Formats: sequence, C-alpha cells, structure tokens
Amino acid sequence: MSLVKVRNLNKWFGRLHALKDVNLEVREGEVAVVIGASGSGKSTLLRCLNFLEVPEQGQVIFDGKVIDPRRDDLNLLRREVGMVFQHFNLFPHMSVLENIIEAPVMVKKVPREKAIEEAQALLHKVGLADKVDAYPCQLSGGQQQRVAIARALAMHPRLMLFDEPTSALDPELVGEVLAVMKQLAGEGMTMIVVTHEMGFAREVADRVIFMDEGRIVEEGEPAQVFSRPQKSRTRDFLSRVL
Ligand code: ADP
Ligand code: MG
Repeated sequence: MSLVKVRNLNKWFGRLHALKDVNLEVREGEVAVVIGASGSGKSTLLRCLNFLEVPEQGQVIFDGKVIDPRRDDLNLLRREVGMVFQHFNLFPHMSVLENIIEAPVMVKKVPREKAIEEAQALLHKVGLADKVDAYPCQLSGGQQQRVAIARALAMHPRLMLFDEPTSALDPELVGEVLAVMKQLAGEGMTMIVVTHEMGFAREVADRVIFMDEGRIVEEGEPAQVFSRPQKSRTRDFLSRVL
C-alpha cells in the first residue's frame, strides 16, 4: 500500500518549468532517496508534497486520499508529514524543549505535561537528553539538526521529508545526523530524503530516485542505480559525485 503517491505533477515558477510530469509512489515504511544536481527540482518536489508549493497540475494522494490544497486537507496533511530542512529552522528565542513542544501543544492540543514527557523521550532518542534547556545558538549545527528532527517527530508524522539535512553541516557533524536518520529508517519510518550523501543512499535507501531538469530520469534499488545506471544522464551525474 502506498502512503504517498504523486501523479503527473507539474510546477512552474513563471516561465520556468520546475517539475515535469513527476510520478512517484512511496510505500509505507519505505525510504526513498532523491539525488540530482542543484536546480533539478528536488526541493520543489518535496515542497509540493506538503504544499509549501502548490503544483499547477497533478495530484498528491496521501493515504489514498487526494489532497485538495484549498480545503481543510492541508492542515491534516501537514500534521502527518514532518519536514526537516537544510537550515534547521529552529525558533531561536525558544529553548530546545519549547521548540519541540510548541506544535504538539498549540496545534494538536496535547496537554503540556504530556508534551514535555514526550519531548524528553525524543531528545533521549536523538542523543540530546542533556540539552533540554539549551537555546539553539548554544548548540552545534549537528545538535540543532537533531533537535529539528525531534521536533518533527513530536507530531507523530507518518511521513518524514528531509531536504539536504546535512548540507549545511561541518563534515565532522554529518555522521551524527545521518545516524539518527538511519535509526529512524530502521524503526520503519516512511522517509523521502534529498541528499548528496551517496553512502547513506547506498546503505539506507530502499529506492534511489535520480532527478534531472525537473524530471525523474531513473529510479531503482541503490545497487542498481549506483552500479548499473541505465541512463546516460544518471551516469554523468554519478561520475561527478562518486
Ligand atoms: P534543487 O532542490 O534540486 O536544487 P529546486 O527545486 O530548488 O532544485 O529548484 C528547481 C528550479 O526551480 C531551479 O531552477 C530554481 O532556481 C527554481 N526555483 C525554485 N524555487 C523557486 C521560487 N520560489 N521562485 C522561482 N524559481 C524557483
Ligand atoms: Mg534543494
């Protein structure tokens, strides 16, 4: 059963055709990794999945339901879909704990005490139990990103979207974030991950999706895409990044 399905998605920015007939299906528990050159439409695709961008054409079907962005569906969808960005986007004036409980308390009306308990468990899970009262500016990039992951998880999403979650990090901090993501994948979370970390893709992805100029050019199991790419554009891209 597919948790999210995208049908003939097209997105324009003015005259720029950023997504061209994108079709995609991600099953429950699957980890899909999206790769491709800068400007190929990876972020736009993720943003269309939770309607941070509204596609001009096509459908996003979540859990069997066509999402209509003009209706209430959007709030429901956004509760079910967590997103982690390249630049963490924590609230700078809030402590780590406050960052994590904000949405559960304000949006989901979870009782504060319960939200705090859960936040503590999530911080433990991402290895930051001792940072509960810290402010984002007191944390390393890797720690901030792990808080951002905990914050997304606090809403109990059924799908997690990651847009280059390690691209802004110093190299020595990349591993700790990837380790949390790998753990999450191991627990069965459905994930769509845009990344340039080909090692992570090889090891963790069930499926690798290569995008070029707004299209999905090739997809398959990591071993297939990395070792026996079928399309010349995929081969060109891989020869530059591997
Ligand atoms: P990627 O994430 O693969 O680097 P993006 O999805 O960010 O690519 O961008 C795809 C194309 O759409 C690029 O040419 C980019 O410049 C353009 N684009 C992205 N967002 C916007 C926007 N808000 N307004 C105009 N053009 C945009
Ligand atoms: Mg991007």
